[in-house]
Amino acid sequence: MDYVSHLSCINCEKTYPAEPDRYLCPDCGEEGLLEVEYDYQKIASSWSKAELAAEKDRRIWRYGPLLPVESSTRRPPLRVGDTPLYQSPDLARELGLENIWLKDDGLNPTGSLKDRASAIAVVKALEAGARVVACSSTGNAASSLAGNAASLGGLLETVIFVPERAPGGKLVQLLIYGATVVSVQGTYEETYFLSRDAINKWGWYNRNAGINPYQVEGKKTSVLEMAEQLDFNLPDWLVFSVGDGCTIAGAWKALQDLREIGFIDRVPRLLGVQAEGCAPITEAFYSGEELKVTEENTVADSIAVGNPRNYKKAIRGIKRSQGEMVNVSDEETYEMMRLLGRTAGIFGEPAGVAGLAGIKKMVDRKEIGSRDEVGFVVTGNGLKDIDNARQAAGRVIEIEPDLELLTQTFAKKGIIKDE
Ligand SMILES: *Cc1c(COP(=O)(O)O)cnc(C)c1O
Ligand SMILES: [Zn+2]
Repeated sequence: MDYVSHLSCINCEKTYPAEPDRYLCPDCGEEGLLEVEYDYQKIASSWSKAELAAEKDRRIWRYGPLLPVESSTRRPPLRVGDTPLYQSPDLARELGLENIWLKDDGLNPTGSLKDRASAIAVVKALEAGARVVACSSTGNAASSLAGNAASLGGLLETVIFVPERAPGGKLVQLLIYGATVVSVQGTYEETYFLSRDAINKWGWYNRNAGINPYQVEGKKTSVLEMAEQLDFNLPDWLVFSVGDGCTIAGAWKALQDLREIGFIDRVPRLLGVQAEGCAPITEAFYSGEELKVTEENTVADSIAVGNPRNYKKAIRGIKRSQGEMVNVSDEETYEMMRLLGRTAGIFGEPAGVAGLAGIKKMVDRKEIGSRDEVGFVVTGNGLKDIDNARQAAGRVIEIEPDLELLTQTFAKKGIIKDE
């Protein structure tokens, strides 16, 4: 943490030393999200693109000067980050664009972008001297925390709180990573409160991204990486699916970091995409009013956050980038799952591809120009949620083991034309 100067409250601007277990501004409570502040001048004068290029570690740790961790703390050995960036002309054409860049963050070790935040969380937990890390979640935050903690081989235990309605598939990943999984008989809100009380009672490290200021710093590495992969010429737009708001807030933080240290001079516009059935941040973005808690009616479960705790950072970042927000239906998301798979060979979970539907909408409305360059991060792997994918995927051909029958069926379906 040679370059972290302090934490500052986004509500009252009071500052605090960057202790590993400092979560919220005590004066402002839940409103008092903290922001990690860096000494950009010091970074700019002691770090260069050439030095970054020479760094052999391909993982997120290569951005060390812009990360809030001590250089001496152990890192989880997993390969977090270093995900591929593809150009997809066929997908671009289908969306009405000339070019799109796809970053496949579903290829992180536990299958989502959340690994970037959880890797930081376990390092901060070690710095705080914790033996246990905890969060309440049913999805990717939880599994990435369990996986990253497990990779340290017994240094840290993980306790995860899930509401009883949590889908079985997501629980399995947690159990395989050896987490203690507590299924709470109650609503998600009650689950969250029980986790909070338990964390306070036993002094565990708290990974809840809504209040832990270091999580945004991990999430920002997807954009740091994309910038480096594009030789610091970022596209005109960067697009993210938005749930709690932490990921897109991280994107803005990365852009600010890169500009302040002189690695980029032009900043892309951010497009945040929510599901129609759960869009409290879009609502607050356009109304300018306080956020209203909504229901969570969408198949894109990783962005189904009715009471997002990071929305202020998200809205501020999108506004500062001259960005926009838009909502998409579940049907549009399913269509994008098929399109992404068919044209780019990438299988994303619903929340991981919802943003593509937002791009299509913005191109149709001519708010994104057909010649604009667009970058999109696929945030989660489709194999995590097979039940939903099945809804999007269509049907197999069922047939008896008979070549004649197969020939007829193919002919009927137009799969193989007569020679
Ligand atoms: C968490 C998540 C998001 C959204 O990130 P937020 O920080 O909650 O806005 C998008 N896609 C996937 C797959 C996620 O797991
Ligand atoms: Zn404050």
